[in-house]
Amino acid sequence: MPQVSLKKIYKTYPNAKNAAPAVQDFNLEVQDGEFIVLVGPSGCGKSTTLRMIAGLESITQGEIYIDSKLINNLPPKDRDIAMVFQNYALYPNLTNFENMAFGLRLRKVEKYKINELVASKARELEIDNLLDRQPKDVSGGQRQRVALGRAIVREPKVFLMDEPLSNLDAKMRVQMRVEIMKLHQRLGATTIYVTHDQIEAMTMGHRIVIMNGGIVQQVDTPDEIYNNPANRFIGSFIGSPPMNFIFGRLVGESGQIYFSNSHMYLPFPKERVTPNIEKYIDTDVVGGIRPEALSLRTGTERQKNEFYAEVDVSELVGADRYVYLNINQRNRESLVARVPAKERYEIGSRVIGQADMDFFHLFDVNTEQRIH
Ligand code: ADP
Repeated sequence: MPQVSLKKIYKTYPNAKNAAPAVQDFNLEVQDGEFIVLVGPSGCGKSTTLRMIAGLESITQGEIYIDSKLINNLPPKDRDIAMVFQNYALYPNLTNFENMAFGLRLRKVEKYKINELVASKARELEIDNLLDRQPKDVSGGQRQRVALGRAIVREPKVFLMDEPLSNLDAKMRVQMRVEIMKLHQRLGATTIYVTHDQIEAMTMGHRIVIMNGGIVQQVDTPDEIYNNPANRFIGSFIGSPPMNFIFGRLVGESGQIYFSNSHMYLPFPKERVTPNIEKYIDTDVVGGIRPEALSLRTGTERQKNEFYAEVDVSELVGADRYVYLNINQRNRESLVARVPAKERYEIGSRVIGQADMDFFHLFDVNTEQRIH
């Protein structure tokens, strides 16, 4: 039995300028203990979705269940959820202790029990020596721990987190990311986490929900999302640098399928050919390949499955080098190859590229959905 179910959820803001709903036909079943990440560009509807689960935003259409109980009209305080916000939303005039105790006092928990709970959770989050101070007298990272502490003392069924790490500097963000994952492993509480950061989504989520323009694009594990993106949007949104896209045509010749354009003629592995791919023979398609699946070499004669390219830019990023290649695509987009740092290519030089065809994807030109 899923712990949280969203069925055909729509949200239209009454004062919205654009006609399309902020969230459309959102369906999701979250299992007990699962860590779900909602990710997508700014304005895609992820906060709206989270706020509807929290009860901070009304639901235009559809149903939300927690433990098979319909909660559409239940006030936030009766939903057995706790929310952690980007801006911490702590009371500035209360001490950290009082901030953590606040929800328990509202629920009339006995005083000795409050003291015990706050002390133990504060120890767990390593903020037990900061409880007498006010939020303004601790660092950003510590403040976010107080906010997390306030959520976990209530021991809710579901945690909702809305960009909780966005206000922290890069180093602290990485540290808190690990802390939240450790905390999740210890508590095992169902968590729905909103972020615009694809690295957070990939590293934290058991499953990721990718949204764009109010519409869910794919719900899957990080591995599947990265390796088998449902459409071009996901290929370019997840991964840094993003997936390369190349315009071409599928050609059949002597029982072999090729991805072809004026610069390349790449054989598509026979074992990957499906009836769906065969339907696209003699049709324009968009090829997609991740930068790490492109390799480069110097030389003058290309093999049949290789292509010539000119080096535009070469960026050293620690262990890797990103080499931007010009192949005179009609949309002028360059390709980027991610190669070992020790490989050096001169700017402006001609190189030979090879695509690992086991990782070559095909997308429909019109629908942009992945064919394979
Ligand atoms: P995200 O969290 O993905 O950045 P939001 O859920 O905040 O996106 O917003 C989704 C869409 O709904 C956006 O187009 C945004 O402008 C709109 N929106 C959000 N809140 C309101 C509101 N209170 N009134 C009108 N439109 C809103």
